[in-house]
Amino acid sequence: MPTLLVQDPIFTQHLVPPGHPERPDRIRAIEKALSAERFAGLTRRPAVATTAEVIATAHRESYVEEVAAASPDDASEIVQIEADTYLCAMSYEVALKAAGAACLAVDAVMGGEFANAFCAIRPPGHHAEGDRPMGFCLFNNAVIAARQAQRVHGAERVAIVDWDVHHGNGTQAIVWDDPSILYASTHQMPLYPGTGAPSETGCGNIVNVPLAAESGSPEFEAAFGERILPALNAFVPDLIIISAGFDAHWRDPLANINLSESDFAQATEQLMEVATRHAGGKIVSLLEGGYDLTGLSESAAAHVATLMTA
Ligand code: ZN
Repeated sequence: MPTLLVQDPIFTQHLVPPGHPERPDRIRAIEKALSAERFAGLTRRPAVATTAEVIATAHRESYVEEVAAASPDDASEIVQIEADTYLCAMSYEVALKAAGAACLAVDAVMGGEFANAFCAIRPPGHHAEGDRPMGFCLFNNAVIAARQAQRVHGAERVAIVDWDVHHGNGTQAIVWDDPSILYASTHQMPLYPGTGAPSETGCGNIVNVPLAAESGSPEFEAAFGERILPALNAFVPDLIIISAGFDAHWRDPLANINLSESDFAQATEQLMEVATRHAGGKIVSLLEGGYDLTGLSESAAAHVATLMTA
């Protein structure tokens, strides 16, 4: 069964101040890498905007309104709404399309049209909490996608696996007391945002496996093999959502973990095995971080190439 790629030029239209790492060129770099001949077998679809009501399955309704209201009218203006997070005139619309891309991918995969999907989207989502933006993130695309699978497609248990180098504090906070969603994360610690200790377990649905600075393939493999995969197998998910940040790559400027493209390919393969065992192979992968354009695009390419072997 083919792999779906959701890509859309709108994701270059969320503008940030000069020098900001979470920039439109990230999307251009990934799209360039995925335009290579070996990706000709992908089915490509543009994003469709979701609604404020769907965003509110993961966020407080008033927060969604606040983001819309805070957006500047002037096309050249960029406003700061949080220490690291900015809005331009298009940002709200782009964020509705990022979450919409995730929902579209869930619909396509849960409906049996595709084995799996990758969404090349921004702004990212895993730091966004129920009622506030944080760390480049406006809406929590992964939780919105998980709830889409449950609400629309009857999924009982959805696992979110987050290998972004930063802990997904927002995802953890939103699903903290929701036993129907497993959140399993590897991340550098100590590092922004400061959460993600193994003692943070929610209602038994949270598995945090921090990695020390300068960890590499062996430590990541051990975290995955000894903690993440067993937790997934015990949870028996109906769908696996990947918060696919590629900032644990050795080239990344925001962190100090030394993974390479092949580590992301191997982790993808392992998640595909778990998904095949429990979830009919269903995986929806959502771009989160990754700030070195070479490390990001090569890692995303390795990840998508592996998804295409389904
Ligand atoms: Zn990150």
